[in-house]
Amino acid sequence: MKINDSSAEHTKVITRFAPSPTGVLHVGGARTALFSWLFARKYGGEFVLRIEDTDTERSTKEYEEDILDGLTWLGLKHDIFVRQSEQMPRHKEVLREMIEKGSAYEAEENTAGTGKVIRFKNTGETITFTDAVRGDITFDTTELGDFVIARDIEHPLYHLAVVVDDCDSGITHVIRGEDGISNTPRQILIARAIGAPEPIYVHIPLILAPDKSKLSKRHGAVSLTAYRDMGYEPEALINFLALLGWNPGDEREIFSVEELIAEFSLERIQKGGAVFSTEKLDWVNKEHMKLMPKNDQYARMAPYFEGRDEKRVRAIQSLVVERISKWSDIQTLGKEGEWEYFFTAPEYKAEGLIWKKGDTNEALQHLDNLAKAMQSIDYATPETVKEGIWDYAEKEGRGNVLWPLRYALSGREKSTDPFTICSILGRDETLARIETAAKKLRNHQG
Ligand code: GLU
Repeated sequence: MKINDSSAEHTKVITRFAPSPTGVLHVGGARTALFSWLFARKYGGEFVLRIEDTDTERSTKEYEEDILDGLTWLGLKHDIFVRQSEQMPRHKEVLREMIEKGSAYEAEENTAGTGKVIRFKNTGETITFTDAVRGDITFDTTELGDFVIARDIEHPLYHLAVVVDDCDSGITHVIRGEDGISNTPRQILIARAIGAPEPIYVHIPLILAPDKSKLSKRHGAVSLTAYRDMGYEPEALINFLALLGWNPGDEREIFSVEELIAEFSLERIQKGGAVFSTEKLDWVNKEHMKLMPKNDQYARMAPYFEGRDEKRVRAIQSLVVERISKWSDIQTLGKEGEWEYFFTAPEYKAEGLIWKKGDTNEALQHLDNLAKAMQSIDYATPETVKEGIWDYAEKEGRGNVLWPLRYALSGREKSTDPFTICSILGRDETLARIETAAKKLRNHQG
């Protein structure tokens, strides 16, 4: 049997993301949450966030907050919130019923007789379930034996809690990582024993590092809030995560959240591991940055240019976006002096002004000529500036003319082209910087 989106047609879809707050939200968890959320949104269903905090020793409030922060940042709003520890009375109630009905019983923990536990009475049936991604999966459950489902009547354990909670929330589709497959037979056995409906299972592929090993810290940041703090766009991260294990069936790679909701389908979730590549993420992020309305771009950039002249920041905005892949790159490049010369006259040594094939006199002569010619040119755009001086540069040799000019403006070996810088600085500032440079060269001569 093949399960596909038709499984969503005549039911109200209810999905869940069920993280254990025993660590921060990482990209894998965020991807699982996203697939569950997209599927619920697509079919007008509900998305349940269930914090599985029954492991009191390893669960912390901080991790829970990190998970909530990450989901909020991505915009994956849940419709229903469940805290698993608060469902404990229900887990116990079901456990008692199971014991009464004989599908669970108290027994020795081990042959050493260290204490009692509660075991599931496993009839050892062969279970086949249809995974929406992998098709039919069959397990012989005899090898699971009478597995433990509670430490005692007061302490039901994990599998029982998951099955009861999924049942109580009416979960129709369990979308979770592939590592959940091995839990499925136990959970189905419990579900059958308590008469709970069996949800449709959708096990999504692992996220792998570029070298196909399991993604871990050594491959870069794995926690979601780290990506937020690096200044990635949430919508870009969603776009990128959606493509980790799902594809639209054609060449498209850039999607808005709305488009993803419309396009997402179980059919196009892949079996094979999904490779996480930071280069790809950076590319997707840059595409999203470029698509943002100008004012939104500005709002994201502004904190990195705090205290700077707003008009000037707006003037270099598209140039900045062109140079970066994520907002924090502004800071990284800024430390290397990438933007400073747009705001303050650069400091440098006269030697820098001299092109490798030229000399001091030549550089000075060209700057003097440019200073005159550039009184009357149009600074409206890089193109108008170029028009104003191009003939001269062509006649005298582009390097001879444009190197000293560009260096006079930026004080840097590498920078934006001189036409763009001039149009951003405007006439007065351009001429002042050329004059400063000429003075430096005269001193240098003398
Ligand atoms: N709480 C489990 C985890 O964080 C997931 C449970 C599930 O999806 O069934 O790994």
